[in-house]
Amino acid sequence: MRFDTRAVHAGNEPDELTGAVTPPIYTSSTFAQAGIGKTKGFEYSRSGNPTRARLERAVADLEGAKFGLAFASGLAGETAVATLLQRGDHVIICNDVYGGTYRLFNQVFRYFGIAFDRVDATDPDNVARGARTKTKMVWMESPTNPLMQVIDIAAVAKVAKSRGLMLVVDNTFASPCLQNPIKLGATVVVHSTTKYIGGHSDLIGGAVVTSDQARYDRLKFIQNATGSVPGPFDCYLALRGIRTIHLRMERHSKNAAAVAEALARDPRVREVYYPFLRGSPQLGVAKRQMSAGGGMLSFRLKGGYRAASRFLESLKVFTLGESLGGVESLAEHPARMTHASLPPPERAKLGVTDDLVRLSVGIEDTEDLVGDVRAALAAI
Ligand SMILES: *Cc1c(COP(=O)(O)O)cnc(C)c1O
Repeated sequence: MRFDTRAVHAGNEPDELTGAVTPPIYTSSTFAQAGIGKTKGFEYSRSGNPTRARLERAVADLEGAKFGLAFASGLAGETAVATLLQRGDHVIICNDVYGGTYRLFNQVFRYFGIAFDRVDATDPDNVARGARTKTKMVWMESPTNPLMQVIDIAAVAKVAKSRGLMLVVDNTFASPCLQNPIKLGATVVVHSTTKYIGGHSDLIGGAVVTSDQARYDRLKFIQNATGSVPGPFDCYLALRGIRTIHLRMERHSKNAAAVAEALARDPRVREVYYPFLRGSPQLGVAKRQMSAGGGMLSFRLKGGYRAASRFLESLKVFTLGESLGGVESLAEHPARMTHASLPPPERAKLGVTDDLVRLSVGIEDTEDLVGDVRAALAAI
């Protein structure tokens, strides 16, 4: 089956008991046993829950992976993946990973003796150069946040494979609809289902998928042992979101491309970052690994912070707010909002300066969004 059909049907078989086309939400914490140890596959909902199992099957299916696991948040999933490491191990993390990922390694796992270095993985040779004898894992995102840098996943996977390193790809920004890192050679893919998979800004959740049996077994053990599972209602919301992900991503991509073009033509804009923007240096790699540009973009205004704040405060359809991936359009100032916790020199090094604005382009009418951006630019 092709992606759009799987989005509607994966993990969505009618309920075995009643035939309900919309499967029930199983709220039960525990399950009756016919005899000691005689279960119908479920015994206690931390270890396994039927609604969660549907979500886990669905996300694995959409990513073209054998196994899926759902978590209480994207970071809970990331934590489970990081516990595949041991004291003394070293991780290569690509520049401008999600701030919470950096914080997790820098302020949690570092205290457990796991070292890391950051490299600019837009040149995959930097990953090879960054590898030490203790390196076990490469952790990357593409497109990156907030500068929408596209990293060649297949090229990084080749480097990782040649050195026996696990490659973890955070695929939250692209979504499984536009990009499937497992097929490009990644060992493990992580998602914040809070974003495009849920798609409606009404849940916090995470997912981890892999086709590696041993890694899956260990991750499943960790999921149960550490207990970072999502509740059945949140699993239901994520499943419901999945049913329309192909339609949403199509519109997100169409709208974001139109907004990016309008921005690129405006004399007040210095630079636009969008994977599928004409003339972008990374267009070739982006088109190889993504089926569309997605809903995220960022840009620099010539007038610095004053222009950025005027722009953000003049928007009417876009809401000023953090997060991304929902049906509604959001705008934010990375230096003072999502990336404010980075030390200023670190921000400067990553290019997260005061002139930068990030947009999560929603699925509203294209002309309304382009018109909103044009009017806010004019208000500067
Ligand atoms: C939001 C996000 C996360 C963290 O997910 P939560 O669900 O907020 O824990 C991780 N990676 C990326 C790229 C994100 O955007």
